[in-house]
Amino acid sequence: MQERELIMTAIRGIERSCLDLIRESARSVFPREFGGFLAVGDDPQVIDEVVLLPGTVAGNAHTIFQMHMAPPDPSLVGTVHSHPSPHPLPSEADLHMFQRYGRVHIIIARPFDNHSWRAYDHRGRPTSLEVVE
Ligand code: ZN
Repeated sequence: MQERELIMTAIRGIERSCLDLIRESARSVFPREFGGFLAVGDDPQVIDEVVLLPGTVAGNAHTIFQMHMAPPDPSLVGTVHSHPSPHPLPSEADLHMFQRYGRVHIIIARPFDNHSWRAYDHRGRPTSLEVVE
Protein backbone atom coordinates (compact mmCIF):
# COMPACT_ATOMS: atom_id res chain seq x y z
CA MET A 1 0.00 0.00 0.00
CA GLN A 2 1.22 3.48 -0.81
CA GLU A 3 2.17 5.77 2.04
CA ARG A 4 -0.30 8.32 0.73
CA GLU A 5 -3.19 5.89 1.15
CA LEU A 6 -2.08 5.08 4.67
CA ILE A 7 -2.05 8.74 5.57
CA MET A 8 -5.61 9.09 4.31
CA THR A 9 -6.86 6.04 6.18
CA ALA A 10 -8.59 6.74 9.46
CA ILE A 11 -7.60 4.59 12.42
CA ARG A 12 -10.74 2.97 13.76
CA GLY A 13 -9.51 0.59 16.42
CA ILE A 14 -6.83 -0.94 18.59
CA GLU A 15 -6.25 -4.57 19.46
CA ARG A 16 -7.02 -5.55 23.04
CA SER A 17 -3.52 -7.02 23.42
CA CYS A 18 -2.01 -3.62 22.67
CA LEU A 19 -4.07 -1.98 25.37
CA ASP A 20 -2.95 -4.67 27.78
CA LEU A 21 0.68 -3.94 26.96
CA ILE A 22 0.10 -0.20 27.35
CA ARG A 23 -1.49 -0.71 30.77
CA GLU A 24 1.28 -3.02 31.93
CA SER A 25 4.02 -0.68 30.71
CA ALA A 26 2.45 2.37 32.34
CA ARG A 27 2.16 0.51 35.63
CA SER A 28 5.67 -0.84 35.56
CA VAL A 29 7.36 2.54 35.08
CA PHE A 30 5.06 4.51 37.40
CA PRO A 31 5.66 7.15 38.78
CA ARG A 32 7.71 7.85 35.68
CA GLU A 33 6.21 8.14 32.20
CA PHE A 34 6.49 5.58 29.47
CA GLY A 35 6.23 6.28 25.78
CA GLY A 36 5.89 4.35 22.57
CA PHE A 37 4.72 4.39 19.01
CA LEU A 38 1.51 2.85 17.70
CA ALA A 39 1.74 0.70 14.58
CA VAL A 40 -0.85 -0.85 12.29
CA GLY A 41 -0.48 -4.27 10.74
CA ASP A 42 -2.34 -6.04 7.95
CA ASP A 43 -5.41 -3.94 8.61
CA PRO A 44 -4.29 -0.33 8.12
CA GLN A 45 -7.18 0.87 10.29
CA VAL A 46 -6.35 -1.13 13.40
CA ILE A 47 -3.40 -0.61 15.74
CA ASP A 48 -1.89 -4.01 16.41
CA GLU A 49 1.55 -3.20 17.78
CA VAL A 50 3.10 -0.94 20.38
CA VAL A 51 6.75 -0.09 19.85
CA LEU A 52 8.13 0.82 23.25
CA LEU A 53 10.77 3.48 23.61
CA PRO A 54 13.22 2.07 26.15
CA GLY A 55 14.67 5.46 26.98
CA THR A 56 11.41 6.78 28.31
CA VAL A 57 11.69 4.80 31.52
CA ALA A 58 14.20 7.46 32.52
CA GLY A 59 11.57 10.13 32.66
CA ASN A 60 10.22 12.74 30.33
CA ALA A 61 8.32 11.13 27.46
CA HIS A 62 8.10 14.34 25.51
CA THR A 63 11.85 14.78 25.28
CA ILE A 64 12.35 11.20 24.19
CA PHE A 65 9.70 11.44 21.50
CA GLN A 66 11.48 14.39 19.98
CA MET A 67 14.71 12.45 19.85
CA HIS A 68 13.10 9.48 18.15
CA MET A 69 10.92 11.40 15.75
CA ALA A 70 13.26 10.71 12.86
CA PRO A 71 12.29 9.00 9.59
CA PRO A 72 8.76 7.73 9.96
CA ASP A 73 7.89 4.17 9.16
CA PRO A 74 4.53 4.27 7.34
CA SER A 75 3.15 1.58 9.66
CA LEU A 76 3.71 3.88 12.64
CA VAL A 77 0.53 5.88 12.98
CA GLY A 78 0.89 7.70 16.28
CA THR A 79 2.14 7.73 19.83
CA VAL A 80 1.20 6.54 23.28
CA HIS A 81 2.43 7.78 26.64
CA SER A 82 1.41 7.66 30.24
CA HIS A 83 0.63 10.37 32.74
CA PRO A 84 1.45 9.66 36.38
CA SER A 85 -1.49 11.92 37.26
CA PRO A 86 -5.15 10.85 37.04
CA HIS A 87 -5.67 13.19 34.06
CA PRO A 88 -5.37 11.75 30.54
CA LEU A 89 -5.58 15.23 29.02
CA PRO A 90 -2.94 16.50 26.61
CA SER A 91 -0.51 19.08 27.98
CA GLU A 92 0.80 21.93 25.86
CA ALA A 93 3.87 19.83 25.12
CA ASP A 94 1.66 16.90 24.14
CA LEU A 95 -0.36 19.04 21.71
CA HIS A 96 2.86 20.22 20.16
CA MET A 97 4.03 16.66 19.72
CA PHE A 98 0.65 15.48 18.34
CA GLN A 99 0.79 18.08 15.61
CA ARG A 100 4.22 17.06 14.51
CA TYR A 101 3.84 13.34 14.29
CA GLY A 102 1.13 10.81 13.63
CA ARG A 103 -2.63 10.72 13.36
CA VAL A 104 -3.74 9.12 16.59
CA HIS A 105 -2.38 9.54 20.07
CA ILE A 106 -3.20 7.72 23.27
CA ILE A 107 -2.68 9.02 26.79
CA ILE A 108 -3.20 6.66 29.69
CA ALA A 109 -3.44 8.08 33.19
CA ARG A 110 -3.49 6.60 36.66
CA PRO A 111 -4.77 4.03 37.63
CA PHE A 112 -3.89 2.71 34.16
CA ASP A 113 -7.00 0.64 33.63
CA ASN A 114 -9.47 0.13 30.79
CA HIS A 115 -11.19 3.41 31.56
CA SER A 116 -8.27 5.73 32.21
CA TRP A 117 -7.06 6.18 28.63
CA ARG A 118 -8.16 8.57 25.91
CA ALA A 119 -7.38 8.84 22.21
CA TYR A 120 -6.82 12.10 20.36
CA ASP A 121 -6.27 13.17 16.80
CA HIS A 122 -3.30 15.21 15.62
CA ARG A 123 -5.01 18.41 16.74
CA GLY A 124 -5.66 17.12 20.23
CA ARG A 125 -9.37 16.55 19.67
CA PRO A 126 -10.81 13.49 21.41
CA THR A 127 -11.40 10.62 19.01
CA SER A 128 -12.91 7.20 19.54
CA LEU A 129 -11.02 3.96 19.12
CA GLU A 130 -12.82 0.67 19.07
CA VAL A 131 -11.19 -2.09 21.10
CA VAL A 132 -10.76 -5.06 18.77
CA GLU A 133 -10.68 -8.52 20.33
ZN1 ZN B 1 1.58 14.05 28.29
